[in-house]
Amino acid sequence: MSNFHQSTRSIHGSSLKDQHGAPHLPTYNTTTFTFESTDSLLEVIDGKKPGALYTRYGMNPTIYSLEEIMAAIEGAEACLGFCSGIAAEVAVFTQYGRDGAVCLGDVYGGTLELLTDQLPLLGIETSFLLGTELEKLEGLLQKGAKLVFFETPTNPALEIFDIRAISNLAHKYGALVVIDNTFASPVNQRPLEFGADLVVYSATKYLGGHSDITAGFVLGSSDLITPINGWRKSLGSVVAPETAALLARSLRTLTIRVRAQSESAQVIAEALEADQRVRRVLYPGLKSFPDHALAARQMSGFGGVLTIEVDGDAKTTADVADRLELFGLAPSLGGTESLATQPVTTTHHDLSAEERERRSITDSMIRLSIGLENPEDLVADLTQALDAVEQ
Ligand SMILES: *Cc1c(COP(=O)(O)O)cnc(C)c1O
Repeated sequence: MSNFHQSTRSIHGSSLKDQHGAPHLPTYNTTTFTFESTDSLLEVIDGKKPGALYTRYGMNPTIYSLEEIMAAIEGAEACLGFCSGIAAEVAVFTQYGRDGAVCLGDVYGGTLELLTDQLPLLGIETSFLLGTELEKLEGLLQKGAKLVFFETPTNPALEIFDIRAISNLAHKYGALVVIDNTFASPVNQRPLEFGADLVVYSATKYLGGHSDITAGFVLGSSDLITPINGWRKSLGSVVAPETAALLARSLRTLTIRVRAQSESAQVIAEALEADQRVRRVLYPGLKSFPDHALAARQMSGFGGVLTIEVDGDAKTTADVADRLELFGLAPSLGGTESLATQPVTTTHHDLSAEERERRSITDSMIRLSIGLENPEDLVADLTQALDAVEQ
């Protein structure tokens, strides 16, 4: 498969050949699998032969075929499917975060909650550095931190981290680099090619792509993935076969969806940058974006998410959001329908005003997830909503 382009791999990535010739991944909606003999059962139990055994172990053809497709898309040796993005993160941190982890920049609110509220109860401690504090990373690695975790682009400011430079530094100290690649998706960024060790996804976003699936993935080398599989099994956090089949269907259109979303986001970012009622547009595809050159080096497209800063206060910004007709007000992203959210009311609502300021998250920000509607219609919708700003 590896000699084919990504869109081809996303359609033909599974080696499963169903006896009826089904072109789609069949749903093996079954919890267990029967064997011809004790010998053939033992071969699978002892790992001498791959095969179907028990669904919670991921040993279900729908689940391992989905993982095969996803590994082909990412260009990774191994892949595990989880019931959510957070479940994937829990398995990674419990396996590799125990000697201390470092989290760089802004991360998904649920990740922050996991790292600050729950994992410390298990003795898994994470240090947090903002993008402006990267010079402190080496000191933390010298002290023994063995896992460096970040998102790039970040949420909601779309800050870009240099995957290659950070991986080189972390590897000098024997630490692993784990990237939450949810925002970029494998269409726009493949962190393993830049030296990262593991990639995690919330498949709930672009991979599922229709706002109707909750799932997650971890990808990397077999050596690193195998121990994570033990956690998935014992935490019981495997993706369900029904979800796995739906997700395999979604992956067939991943490349075309994300490309269209990224192209529309560029059109919208440029249109809004020219609108005086918008103070700032944060989008890695804009030449004016501070990290544009770095983004262009490690991304093949700039993604379907952009953040604008309205020229007004929190109330005016909420008025703009409320006037939107095509954009739904919701804190998620990656679906076919466009969504808008004011981070101060949703994703970063639980942070103190001080912490938001430290993270440069302002009351006037609106994060836009661009769907598959016509971009001209979306620009028109945003333009009429911006009439809420007094000139
Ligand atoms: C949504 C999201 C997650 C969590 O994913 P769930 O599937 O909701 O558990 C993690 N990281 C990022 C960047 C996300 O957007």
